[in-house]
Amino acid sequence: MSTAELGAESNPYTQMQHRLDKAAALLSLEPGLYSILSTPTQELTVALPVQMDDGSMRVFTGYRVQHSIARGPAKGGIRYSPDVSLNEVRALAAWMTWKCAVVNVPFGGGKGGVICDPRRMSQTELEKMTRRFASSLMDIIGPERDVPAPDMNTNEQTMAWFMDTYSMHKRVTDTAIVTGKPVGLGGSQGRREATGLGVALTVRESLKHLGLPESGCKVVVQGSGNVGGIAAEFLHEMGHHVVAISDMYGGIHNESGLDMPAVMKHLKKTGKLEGFPGAEAVDNAELLTLPCDVLVPAATENQITSANAADIHAKVIVEGANGPTTAKADAILESNGVFVAPDILANAGGVTVSYFEWVQDRMGYFWEKKDVFNRMERIMVESFHSVVESAKKNNTSPRIGAYCLAVDRVAYCLRLRGVYA
Ligand code: NAD
Repeated sequence: MSTAELGAESNPYTQMQHRLDKAAALLSLEPGLYSILSTPTQELTVALPVQMDDGSMRVFTGYRVQHSIARGPAKGGIRYSPDVSLNEVRALAAWMTWKCAVVNVPFGGGKGGVICDPRRMSQTELEKMTRRFASSLMDIIGPERDVPAPDMNTNEQTMAWFMDTYSMHKRVTDTAIVTGKPVGLGGSQGRREATGLGVALTVRESLKHLGLPESGCKVVVQGSGNVGGIAAEFLHEMGHHVVAISDMYGGIHNESGLDMPAVMKHLKKTGKLEGFPGAEAVDNAELLTLPCDVLVPAATENQITSANAADIHAKVIVEGANGPTTAKADAILESNGVFVAPDILANAGGVTVSYFEWVQDRMGYFWEKKDVFNRMERIMVESFHSVVESAKKNNTSPRIGAYCLAVDRVAYCLRLRGVYA
């Protein structure tokens, strides 16, 4: 089924709102607070003119959405992709609000995106576009206002350019303006691995919770980037068999388990998983329905829908990506007894270490990697148990349990702060 055929089912903001509605009903949330939480606080659309390498001028469209600043500065990544839309950025910003609340870090939720195809742009063009984007957002961002980070197709280098541009305008070096920077330029040890490690820890906690073996499980991972690739390596180290993994061009499959360090080496060298020796090719649709114990969707939104949810064999789904499962698919998975560790919990290791990075930048004192990982592990494990408890208390799924936990924490702050008018 194509995205067009899926219609409203694939509209990310509608998907977010659907879950918020369920949580609000279970919590008997006051209608006024519900209206506030259903409406993004601030949205900015900017035009970014860039002189391309061939001398032509192109104007890119960029967005920054702050969904909520009730619990602290807005926090969330910047995505570069031809598919970016305001609706998607809105949903991603709201998911950041809920995610920061689930792991109880003192941030609200924001997200940004630029409609562009970074694979067809040179480094010079990307640098110019990033600097123009940073300068266009000057009035709404800042370490106490809104702190961006990398997301799909942006990385440490993007954050270094962003931080430098902000700092040039401010006439000070202000590293806390973004997280996900290179170590040595105010970045934190362990930030690169944090989301993938958090996903692997959530797999461990989910298996423990369900009484399933904590090693030797068959794992399938969709996406082999910062989240999927790193999660797959940690899961391999934990003694699981990663039987299939994919990238945007397709996947590779070996029933007895892939040698993950060798797979990642091959990917780094060739830029693709395709052609990895000793594995068969599998497409992204087939990959999701392969027999396995654990499925980790870690690529993009709307991968598990009403069209394929019934064909999923995994007992456990741990969502590395944001919004990989639609609300209609939730119902099918639930009735089939699949345990879903939701995105706003499972991939929160990244924002947790981003919070540590922001704290370290503001202190000017940097921690060792083992301290970063130990602190993150404690937060991820505690958050997992809080979500399971919330699901039990509200007699609902772990996803809606996570929303209940998050909405309740944000609503608590809104009640205390009151409405300034
Ligand atoms: P990335 O760009 O590093 O990797 C994305 C991976 O998915 C690549 O392997 C790419 O080839 C693949 N991919 C892209 N489109 C695909 C498609 N249509 N079908 C199959 N594979 C596809 O990005 P990332 O940072 O790993 O982010 C992946 C997801 O995780 C996104 O939803 C992102 O919002 C979310 N996320 C990322 C972080 C982080 O710290 N990087 C934190 C939380 C959530």
